[in-house]
Amino acid sequence: MKKIIVLIVAIMTIGMFTPAIRSNAQNGFVSIFITPSSEVQQGRTSILQVMGPNIEKVTATFAGRRFDLYRTNVGNWAGLLAVDMDATLGANTLDIYYWTDENQEPQVISQQIVVLPGGFDFQDIPLPYDLEPLLDPELNEYDFQSIERVHMRQTREIFFTTFQQPIPGPSISSFGGFRSYNNGVLTGRHTGIDYRAVIGTAVTAAANGRVVFAQYLPIHGNHIIIDHGWGILTGYSHLSEISVVPGELVYQGQTIGLSGATGRVQGPHLHFEVAVNGSWVDGSQFLTLEIPLPAIN
Ligand SMILES: [Zn+2]
Repeated sequence: MKKIIVLIVAIMTIGMFTPAIRSNAQNGFVSIFITPSSEVQQGRTSILQVMGPNIEKVTATFAGRRFDLYRTNVGNWAGLLAVDMDATLGANTLDIYYWTDENQEPQVISQQIVVLPGGFDFQDIPLPYDLEPLLDPELNEYDFQSIERVHMRQTREIFFTTFQQPIPGPSISSFGGFRSYNNGVLTGRHTGIDYRAVIGTAVTAAANGRVVFAQYLPIHGNHIIIDHGWGILTGYSHLSEISVVPGELVYQGQTIGLSGATGRVQGPHLHFEVAVNGSWVDGSQFLTLEIPLPAIN
């Protein structure tokens, strides 16, 4: 009886997102839901849910990236459909592979997802002369590669519940902006969002997780990355102090360091980045997502 009630509640909950429902034409038994919208913007994240009887495992690929889905507390399968800021505009194929018997070949459902422009702004960044060596492309590549290696993790260990802002106060720079430093000496993209913060403000973990990176990088300065499981990672840059070590488990709201102005900065602030399945996504939108709770094993 309890199970039936849970199922009814689950169906009702999903029913509230009716506009986002895409039923599956190839297989009448498996349903797919994409919320908050099945039209997605570059740099944004949607929740993909798969519902059907006797499913034992689900993985998906979208725009060349593979990601696994986890079992939710109401028996669906959920995963984060992260759209890269450089994703090709227009229709992209989402392939969903599901197993009703893990020893057999999976069944595949394909669906077209429309990617809309991210609406990113252009940011002209004047850097003081003494920081100009930090515009060296090789140094930037080193920084990028160090972080990218960590981003490819997909730990099957669920820590997250919801995510919260890592520092109080307003954001001062948005995600994904096309940046030009010192009139084009270097160009790049803004991979996170910036919060105003005087040096020494406590920076807290956005959700439960495990510290997987805590060291100085030339551009990001003192940088921490937390792995929240299932392809979700958060990064915290330009810290004046790091108070955690790799391998350490942290809980949501725990102080992990102090804000600062290390690395390539115009002034003190916290740069906060979110990576999902290897793609940087807009942290401000990610923080508002209603992520289905994982099943308790
Ligand atoms: Zn930033």
